[in-house]
Amino acid sequence: MTTASTLDLIGNTPLVLLKGASEAAGCEIYGKCEFYNPGASVKDRAALFIVRDAEAQGLLKPGGTIVEGTAGNTGIGLALVANALGYKTIIVMPETQSREKMDTLRALGARLVTVPAAPYANPGHFVHTSRRIAEETENAVWANQFDNIANRRAHIETTAEEIWAQMDGRVDGFTCAAGTGGTIAGVGMGLKAKDEKVQIALTDPYGAALYHYFAHGELKAEGNSVAEGIGQGRITANLDGAPIDTQFRISDDEGLYWVRQMLAEEGLCLGLSSGINVAGAVALGKQLGAGSRIATILCDTGFRYLSTIYNPDWMTSKSLPPMPWQLDS
Ligand code: PMP
Repeated sequence: MTTASTLDLIGNTPLVLLKGASEAAGCEIYGKCEFYNPGASVKDRAALFIVRDAEAQGLLKPGGTIVEGTAGNTGIGLALVANALGYKTIIVMPETQSREKMDTLRALGARLVTVPAAPYANPGHFVHTSRRIAEETENAVWANQFDNIANRRAHIETTAEEIWAQMDGRVDGFTCAAGTGGTIAGVGMGLKAKDEKVQIALTDPYGAALYHYFAHGELKAEGNSVAEGIGQGRITANLDGAPIDTQFRISDDEGLYWVRQMLAEEGLCLGLSSGINVAGAVALGKQLGAGSRIATILCDTGFRYLSTIYNPDWMTSKSLPPMPWQLDS
């Protein structure tokens, strides 16, 4: 394959049959390999669409700066798109996120601002901080991934189309977790437009409020999770109107089980949101029954978490079980 621009490397990721998950669910479960994107996560797609949308609206001008608040992956996507198009980036991240994502952003030349983790209502929250920095910076735009629906449009126009084509139009269900909600809403809308019978399930981690919202109509969070990039407490503009048929709540222990299984038995090194998504896909597969075909998202590479979920000391500090094989070495 030859492409004219590094930006053409975004999307068109492979879809892999996940053998262990398929066996556990008694049906076919496929993972969309978003770690194949140049920034190694699903967020490259949203970053490209947000930048192209800002250009089309005349908001982003030559030499301009893109400012964003992010758990890291959107920042990495924006920084690489910005580098390819001649823009600058200022990225605001909560300091609880992995060192690897911060190092990657600095390596890409982004200006990185870290802030203490805070509730959304707090003006110091990373999203509000990034909006203020955008307002105070000359020739800057705020990417606003949570409420900018260019984000979910990326998944309606690319991710959903790819999944539909890769599965030859035989898709019974799709599930993933929500950070901004761009992926679940966009892929959900895109697949429903192909066939409204496709079942769309939200897979929510503990500590997020969406499971309760879709099950009982009220935003309510219970428990917590160490997963980065997912866990939403409000209905973002991207989530507004998402066609959710059913919902599952998945613990970190269940997600980590699938992270370990995929690493040890399938050779895939992934982040925890991917493990949580696969646990959700297994739950959906059991619900839809034998013969069903389910897709989910393998959101990012595990190399981004060598200092966290793949680090036995870090895992022990969070009262989580280290990878068993790491205890022998
Ligand atoms: N997993 C990871 C690792 C992420 O960084 C993100 C993005 N925040 C997601 C999942 C969720 O994607 P979305 O923002 O489209 O809901």
